[in-house]
Amino acid sequence: MSSLCLCLTSSSFNGAIAQLERYGEYIDMAEMRLDLLNPDERHKALKLPQITGIPLILTIRLPQDGGKWGEFGESEEERILLFKKMLESGGWTFVDLEDNRLMADTQAAALSSGVRIIRSVHDFQGSLLNLPVAEISGQIRRIADKGYIPKIATRCTGSRQLLTLARTAVSTESVKDKVLLGMDEYGIPSRILAHRFGSLWTYSSAAGGPGEPVSAASGQLDPETLTNLYRFRDIDDSTALYGVTGNPIAHSLSPELHNRWLQDSGLNGTYIPIRSDDMAALVETCDIWGLKGLSVTVPHKKKALSLCDYADISARSIGAANTLLRGGDGWRARNTDAEGFLKTLPAAMNLRSIEELNGKKALIIGAGGAARAAVYALTKAGMKLVILNRTIEKARHLAEETKQQWGALSPESFSLLEGGVDLAVQTTNVGMFPDSSSDPIPWWNPSGCLLVYDMIYQPEETVLLARSRGVGINTKNGSGMLEAQARIQFELFTGRKAGT
Ligand code: NAP
Repeated sequence: MSSLCLCLTSSSFNGAIAQLERYGEYIDMAEMRLDLLNPDERHKALKLPQITGIPLILTIRLPQDGGKWGEFGESEEERILLFKKMLESGGWTFVDLEDNRLMADTQAAALSSGVRIIRSVHDFQGSLLNLPVAEISGQIRRIADKGYIPKIATRCTGSRQLLTLARTAVSTESVKDKVLLGMDEYGIPSRILAHRFGSLWTYSSAAGGPGEPVSAASGQLDPETLTNLYRFRDIDDSTALYGVTGNPIAHSLSPELHNRWLQDSGLNGTYIPIRSDDMAALVETCDIWGLKGLSVTVPHKKKALSLCDYADISARSIGAANTLLRGGDGWRARNTDAEGFLKTLPAAMNLRSIEELNGKKALIIGAGGAARAAVYALTKAGMKLVILNRTIEKARHLAEETKQQWGALSPESFSLLEGGVDLAVQTTNVGMFPDSSSDPIPWWNPSGCLLVYDMIYQPEETVLLARSRGVGINTKNGSGMLEAQARIQFELFTGRKAGT
């Protein structure tokens, strides 16, 4: 299993000790970033090995490697002297030196004090992952062959790059002592799944907060999140992997829901966020990891369906997949949005059952994947719909398929809504974080509506919901639907009912 390493990012020695105390119960080791300490605090780090009983990495990072050495005019000679002084004082387990520098003296000091040497490659341009896997693997083997621990920390700029990183992990499986990680949001899976990437450890840093330093590198998670949410310390060869993909994905609440249910069920599994800009590359990466189930969100639901080997009736009728299941015979597409949406509707509209929707009128704002799920569910329930969309052709297409009315998402559709509607369902991205101040349909007056339903759940109340509530209309955001569709997904993924 991989260890959890805390990067000490404070500019004061006491701050670093406070970070160790705060996360002590979650971590196996720590990295002392001497370059981040204020110059007059650095000598205090000599005491660190005596204070803490855990393995320690010593490093002094240069600006080109993401460090701050030199910010106060310090020279390379001073850096080498500081390394030597620290190593000679003893107690360190590892020292991290750049692979592109000779550093013979530091290396000798490390060897004579029994400290293992990490040779690291930091790539902040993200160009490394555009090289062939054989070339990156060769670099790792070359470092390992010299008896050092190779560490590759590279910006991961998209799904193709994450795939390259995953392939590199497979091709260097025989190099047991290494660290391989992708920075930035696209690289987060390599941090959580360090065990699957064959990394000796993953790096983490303090969660931040008022007055606290930012993380040591982009995409680093804090030890508590890694341990409690993703169960990092339990991930082994038999851990079942699940995930959610979309672009963006950081806002998704799905990891909180699925991981809670996995824990409640006592299953050895973890559910991770995987940002994607290329679904084909992502599916290939998931195959490498043996990922069992994938939730899919904006903007990949259509593409996800096209990449599957099989699709059930829900995904085929809606024309989009929000759930991919990986079995022995390939990927299977499902759509749990329609069912999840419908489950939340009667109570929100003060109706006794779904049957009471029959004959009522609804406005559907949007004609993408989420709209298709709503239209599919509401048409089946016998409702009369008006579908309005920015791209009018998509509204027409969906309306013709389901024998409903359609129009442009503009005031010229006003006449279609005359006499009012019983329900309005907002399914576009407009108003979703970070574009939280926009209203997709500012010209429409919700008066007389039983419910305005916005599928967005971040922010909790969109501009459309706020102005509807302001005129006394019942409103509902997308969190109930998210949970309802996720519960169905969880059962499909694990064969177990989701807990509370
Ligand atoms: P999608 O397939 O990409 O469709 C996006 C829709 O938004 C299309 O109708 C698109 O219109 C419209 N749109 C995007 N930008 C617009 C703009 N600037 N002005 C007007 N219309 C715009 O995405 P989706 O899967 O349907 O998801 C859409 C939203 O529903 C997202 O916010 C998602 O989080 C939410 N959702 C929530 C749940 C839940 O469980 N709560 C489930 C599914 C989806 P065009 O056709 O003109 O591009």
